[in-house]
Amino acid sequence: MNTRLQVLLTGLALLCASTAPAQQAWPTRPITLVVPFAAGGPTDVVARTLAGSMSKTLGQTVVIEQKLGAGGTVAGAYVARSAPDGYTFFIHHNGMATSAALYRKLSYNPLTDFEFVSQAVDVPMTLLARKDFPANNMQEMIAYVKANQSKINLANAGLGAVSQLCGMLLERALGVKLTAVPFQGTAPAMNALLGGQVDILCDQTTQTIPQIKAGNVKFYGVTTRNRIRALPDAPTLQESGLRDFEVLVWHGIYAPKGTPRFIIERMNAAVIAALKDPDVVRRMADLGAEIAPDSKLSPEGLQTWLKAEIDKWGPIIRSVGTFAD
Ligand code: ASP
Repeated sequence: MNTRLQVLLTGLALLCASTAPAQQAWPTRPITLVVPFAAGGPTDVVARTLAGSMSKTLGQTVVIEQKLGAGGTVAGAYVARSAPDGYTFFIHHNGMATSAALYRKLSYNPLTDFEFVSQAVDVPMTLLARKDFPANNMQEMIAYVKANQSKINLANAGLGAVSQLCGMLLERALGVKLTAVPFQGTAPAMNALLGGQVDILCDQTTQTIPQIKAGNVKFYGVTTRNRIRALPDAPTLQESGLRDFEVLVWHGIYAPKGTPRFIIERMNAAVIAALKDPDVVRRMADLGAEIAPDSKLSPEGLQTWLKAEIDKWGPIIRSVGTFAD
């Protein structure tokens, strides 16, 4: 063997020796998955369901950490500034896209300050009112809201929440302006609805199905284009005359920019394994959530999707003109 070849081979061997253990050494301690909304709410339920299964695959606990506030943007800023060491991840929904238009001074860029891991599940929303709200179906709801807009309030989880997006689309469709009552997640918003302190809430099936089935709320329809398996008798809002009204809640998992690619790939594989776990599949189906299609499950699939969602919602939000600093 000539000396140049020997040097090359020794160099290669050293390179392998220096990278291989580092790759195998992850994860050596619990991993944090940051959830931007209150415990017990829809985003938290999805995160905890995935985390349980991912912990088994990764051999380390995936710990849920709530970072609440400003419709998910407090958590976004926190994760964008976290160390890219493979121990901090972020789960967020459509708010990752809508916040880019809703906030004039967002301290992070959703497209450039994160690594993209995967999508997970798609969740329909449902339009609800407190149990004694004086409208028994969508037609009555439309008429009542149009006639009484100044006295009606609408709960949401802040600017950037899907409850806010859904409420904003409802206001736009009916040509009304309601009083928004922001909470740090829709778990507390649901409590306020059940207690009769707020009038209307649009929220994911992951939280609302049990309340709908128990008859604890008035329920007007689903926000998806088609009826859903989990609530087959429920009309879509489009069927009830709200033309083009469609919100489907998608979930992305992100890491701080610079997180090593091999960690992103292993997290991606752990998410995909969780989505195939029969316990996860059953629980998600019970909650009305659909496993995201394969095309959305790669890091690149999430990145492309987020860009398309920013392009889709930006003009709609700007046309309504709801902004915060
Ligand atoms: N459902 C929520 C939203 O409106 C957030 C949550 O998961 O609490 O965005």
